[in-house]
Amino acid sequence: MIEGLIEAAAGEERPLILIVDDSPTIRMSLRRAVEGEYRPLEADDGEQAWALLQQEPGIELVITDLSMPRLDGFGLTQRIRASEASHLHNLPVIVVTGADDTEAREKAFHTGANDFLTKDSDRIELLARLRAHLKLADTIRQLEASQRELREQANTDPLTGLPNRRFFTQIANKELSLMRRQQEYFAVMMVDIDHFKVVNDTYGHSAGDHVLSAVAHALAQNLREEDTVARIGGEEFAVSSPATNRLASIVLAERLRKAVANLALEYEGSQIPVTISLGIALRPHDGDSLEDLLAVADERLYLAKQQGRNRFCVTDKTPRSEQEEAVDMVCPRMDEALAMVRHGNLHRLLPHLPKLLEELIPLLSLVNEQSPDERLDLDRLRAVVEALRR
Ligand code: GH3
Ligand code: MG
Ligand code: MG
Repeated sequence: MIEGLIEAAAGEERPLILIVDDSPTIRMSLRRAVEGEYRPLEADDGEQAWALLQQEPGIELVITDLSMPRLDGFGLTQRIRASEASHLHNLPVIVVTGADDTEAREKAFHTGANDFLTKDSDRIELLARLRAHLKLADTIRQLEASQRELREQANTDPLTGLPNRRFFTQIANKELSLMRRQQEYFAVMMVDIDHFKVVNDTYGHSAGDHVLSAVAHALAQNLREEDTVARIGGEEFAVSSPATNRLASIVLAERLRKAVANLALEYEGSQIPVTISLGIALRPHDGDSLEDLLAVADERLYLAKQQGRNRFCVTDKTPRSEQEEAVDMVCPRMDEALAMVRHGNLHRLLPHLPKLLEELIPLLSLVNEQSPDERLDLDRLRAVVEALRR
């Protein structure tokens, strides 16, 4: 029993390899040869091998025969190399061929096999080849991981994990050219933490860092998949939001403002209140280059600060296209409408007042049910809706 456990535990250390051959005799002889160092799985044709590879991502190497029913060794190798999954794409494949079958070897090599063995290769040679291929595959994996890490390091800010200014510029410029081609709106925001110097001065620099990370996280959490937020300076962030018109950008800015204001941050027992101010610029009204849009967003950020902070600024003076007029015909959702009230964007809200008020009636009926002694006059409200419609 104990021996069995020890064997099972030691077994976990041995790399998992897959032997594919339609001959049980050859499978057995290969299994016996490798068993001491590896955990062999077996399949009797390419299809079964492919199914096993999907089920068992831990397989580190494949030894395969060439001629087999259903899916042969060439087909199997081809599928492995064409796979989207990188662990399969890079999986070492060793093909077993006849000693002088040069044609098959050439074909297997072109299909993506890494090495060849003949059916009568001895055990020592077989094990040496396996070791060499596993080591190579491991080296390639490490290389890929370190390249990935380097790419990420060069592009992200270490404190918050967000893209840095350089990376933001690359991403936003790509998006912008796509939006131009598709004649779509594009919103850019500049975001700055309010009175951040006070946080540093009152609670210390490391509390400041903590706040920065928390704000970064809150911003990232409240974006759509296609939006990007980056840290572009000390306590400054930028947001790019493709295919976003003015109304949608207002809703987004309000969501970000609220998410940060509601953070309730604590650092070493003290509550730290945090708010942000935002400036919004829109393509095509405010410019058509990232530089221009960022400059306009920055001016509006400054206005938001002047107007008292913890708010966003998007001017209403820009000319409005027909497409955008059409957007205004759509009644805003209740939360959007409330954001528009809070920020004084009233002219676009007024045409929708009857509809919004009507939407509230079921809610108010519920209120009446809950307080039978003090009832709201809903008939009066319906009359108001009608009057507003006229
Ligand atoms: P405002 O509301 O006008 O934006 O005021 P503010 O205090 O946020 O703006 P100001 O530009 O005067 O101060 C920004 C502060 O941000 C000063 C700087 O020390 C601090 N800061 C910049 N980068 C970091 C950082 O990485 N960590 C910490 N803890 N503080 C930083
Ligand atoms: Mg600031
Ligand atoms: Mg600043």
